[in-house]
Amino acid sequence: MKKTIPLIVGNWKCHPIKTIEAEALATTTAKLHKKNDMPYVAIAPTNLHISAVAKKISKSPIMLAAQNVSAYTIGAHTGEQAVSQLKDSGVEIVIVGHSERRAAGETDEQVLAKTQAVLAAKLIPIICIGEQSRDVSGNFFKEIEKQISSFASVLNSTQLKKVVIAYEPIWAIGTGETATAQDVKEMQLFIEKILTKLHDRATARAVRLLYGGSVKPHNAAELHEVGHMNGFLVGGASLKAEDFIAITKAVI
Ligand code: PEP
Repeated sequence: MKKTIPLIVGNWKCHPIKTIEAEALATTTAKLHKKNDMPYVAIAPTNLHISAVAKKISKSPIMLAAQNVSAYTIGAHTGEQAVSQLKDSGVEIVIVGHSERRAAGETDEQVLAKTQAVLAAKLIPIICIGEQSRDVSGNFFKEIEKQISSFASVLNSTQLKKVVIAYEPIWAIGTGETATAQDVKEMQLFIEKILTKLHDRATARAVRLLYGGSVKPHNAAELHEVGHMNGFLVGGASLKAEDFIAITKAVI
C-alpha cells in the first residue's frame, strides 16, 4: 500500500446482529466504493460475519480487516482465532490493541505479541494507541510515548515500516467528541518524533498513521487536511454505508 494514498478502515465492532444485515451493509458499501485507487478502504466485521462479508466484497477493491487476533498459532486456545485462520478467510489487515480490548485487560505485551503474529503472517497490523484523557500540562504525551515504545523499541525498522499506527484518543471514541485537527497534527509530529528517536527519520516517515475518534462526514475533510495523517479508523460512522463512503470521499 502506498502511504501517499489514504487508508480508511471501518470497524464495525460488535454489530450487526444478523449475518443478513452484515451482508447488506457490505454490499451497499461495496456498491458505493467502486474506484480501485483512491483511497484504500477496508472493513472489519465481527469474526462471525467475516466469511459472509468476504463473499460480498470479493469483486470490489475493499479489503477485509479483523478487529482482533490471537497471539497464538492454532492449537488448544479455546475462543481464540489464529492469524492463519483469519488469513484463510481473506483478511489482509488486523486491528490490534483497540482501546476497547485494552479496557478488557489487553496489555502492551499482548499487543506486541499479536503484532508480531500478524507481521509473521505477512498481514498488516493496525496498532491502536491513545490517551485516556487530556491534561493541560501534556502528561498524556508520556502515555502515548510508553505505548509506542512498547512495540517500536522491539520491532526492527523493516518490521516497523509495515505497521500502521492508529492514534485514537479514548475520550473521543464513540463520544461524538473529536480531537481538533491541530491536536491531530501535533500528535502526528509527536509520534514521528518518538519513532525517529527509536529508529531513524526514514523509518518514522514510512509508518502510516491513522486518526480515529468520532470521525464523521462533516469533520473528515478538516481532520485529514490539517491533521496530516494518512487515513482514518472509523467506528460508528462505518455502520452507515453512505456516511462511511462520504468519509472516504472527504480525503481525496
Ligand atoms: C473506533 O471504534 O475505533 C472508533 C474510532 O469509533 P468511533 O468512530 O465511533 O469513535
